[in-house]
Amino acid sequence: MITAHSPAGTPVRSSSPSSVLEAEHRELVASFEAFIRKELVPLAADLPETADLPPADLRDYIRRRSARLGFYAGDYPEELGGSGMPFSAVVLLHHAAGRSGCPLAPYALAGSDGPSPLLRHGTEEQIQRYLVPLVRGEAVRCLALTEPHAGSDAFHLTSTAERDEEGRGWLLNGRKTFVSNADRADFTLVVASVEGQATAFVVEAGNPGLRIGQRYDGMSGEPLFELLLEDVRVPDDAVIGGADGIGSAMGSGIDSLSRGRLVVAAMCNGIAEYALAQGVGYARERQAFGARIGAYQHVQEHLVSSRAEVEAAKLLTLACARLVDEGTEAPENAALAKLTSSETAVRVVDRALQVHGATGWVRGHPLEFLYRYVRMMTIIEGTSEIQKVIIARAMGLG
Ligand SMILES: Cc1cc2nc3c(=O)[nH]c(=O)nc-3n(C[C@H](O)[C@H](O)[C@H](O)COP(=O)(O)OP(=O)(O)OC[C@H]3O[C@@H](n4cnc5c(N)ncnc54)[C@H](O)[C@@H]3O)c2cc1C
Repeated sequence: MITAHSPAGTPVRSSSPSSVLEAEHRELVASFEAFIRKELVPLAADLPETADLPPADLRDYIRRRSARLGFYAGDYPEELGGSGMPFSAVVLLHHAAGRSGCPLAPYALAGSDGPSPLLRHGTEEQIQRYLVPLVRGEAVRCLALTEPHAGSDAFHLTSTAERDEEGRGWLLNGRKTFVSNADRADFTLVVASVEGQATAFVVEAGNPGLRIGQRYDGMSGEPLFELLLEDVRVPDDAVIGGADGIGSAMGSGIDSLSRGRLVVAAMCNGIAEYALAQGVGYARERQAFGARIGAYQHVQEHLVSSRAEVEAAKLLTLACARLVDEGTEAPENAALAKLTSSETAVRVVDRALQVHGATGWVRGHPLEFLYRYVRMMTIIEGTSEIQKVIIARAMGLG
């Protein structure tokens, strides 16, 4: 279980180059950090030490409370229940959540159960009915895209949507896998093929054709689920975007990928910064062979390399977030940031644990949890290899 900033953990951010890019939203970040410190850290202290996943009702409470304070889904417009903040501010909040080391902090920000950019392409009625409750933290959704034989190649779909016999609605059939939040979602965004064209549908909870199959418990955090679509009957207006939405799921999905990747990158950088602070704090205190272990160059190598890599990843991510706000972000930039930040976080957490020796390996230590938690980051929102494919294409290769 991650605990609040260890007294030994010395943040390494005061005059770092990235502080230049952090300055603009410093007050907002400070108020979010105060919320974590005053409200979430005490709640986290009551959780069992070895519980990876906070109870669902606690996560629901945090989501709603954070939305009321204006942090959750902060970049959504005020008329939809958001705060209309720039995307670069959202990225800094995700960074702060990771850096806090508080296991409840990520639930205060919109993630895989929150507002989906796919719904931005919805009709006005869909936006009011589905997107607004998500932005306000009052509903939870899931995205059923991945299939047993379509993961990275996500739009190679075998799930289908066909007109029902009377031509008034749709019948969805197929099998989806590795779906987060499927056990508690108020509705599912299902991507299925309409005559070979990827199309997104909203399927509300309780639809008799939609069934949870296998449950997958991963290395940490939330379980994933298989979803079985067996003659899932939905009305015409379940197509996201209405009649124009047929075949548009791929376009709107790609459109939203940069933001999703930058948010993951920011969380990774925050986690890496937290792990590094833990490593530095421990290396300054732990004694071996008559000296502090931080005096040994092999230990310094772990920490100094980490410092350089975290700083570079952070600068890259914050600069890309600015490009989003300026409307000039290119997909390969977000891919560069996500690749760099997720791979860096995995390495930095590993090194910080190594610096702690057996102390960091013990169940219940923050680094033991983070070692398992951070591993998914090079897989979600496109694997590292897929980020490299995107970058290679942008370089005119492949
Ligand atoms: C924690 C977690 C949460 C998830 N939540 C959801 C969710 O809510 N909804 C959902 O639909 N899915 C979800 N997924 C699934 C996720 O999107 C897929 O796991 C991911 O897209 C990779 O697909 P795959 O696992 O089938 O791997 P594969 O696509 O089979 O890839 C296997 C390996 O081959 C590599 N590879 C594949 N193609 C190429 C290529 N062209 N060039 C180089 N290397 C390549 C990959 O990088 C990887 O290393 C989740 C996964 C995890 C781990």
